Parts: sequence; structure tokens; C-alpha cells
Amino acid sequence: MNTSHSPPENSIGSSTLEQHITGPHWEPPEIPNATTYWRCTACGHESIHETDLYRPTFHTDDCEVHEC
Ligand SMILES: [Zn+2]
Repeated sequence: MNTSHSPPENSIGSSTLEQHITGPHWEPPEIPNATTYWRCTACGHESIHETDLYRPTFHTDDCEVHEC
């Protein structure tokens, strides 16, 4: 499968992780300086930087992305 993701070298780098990454999502327009963000559906953490979600430390200790 061709992917447009380009995670950093020290990434988790698993297809399991990518299954939990959703985005980009648009913030509600009523938020000042609204931007896009990405979310891990397994632990609910969000970031405006997609690459953040490829860092193990970004997720909770019990997040499913660690189980691979
Ligand atoms: Zn997570």
C-alpha cells in the first residue's frame, strides 16, 4: 500500500499505529486561529503535527500503539 506518511527515523513505524491515526481534522471555526489537528483514536491524544503521533512518548502508557 502506498502511503504519504513520512514518519521520523525513530518512529514507532507500524501499520497498527497508522490505523489509529485520524486526520487532518478541522478545529471548530469559532476557535481563534483554528487549524487542523491529528488524533490517536486509541488514547485520544491530539496534535497539530502529524509527526507527533509517531512518537511513542506522545501516547498514553496503555495506548494500543505500544502493543506491536
Ligand atoms: Zn495513542
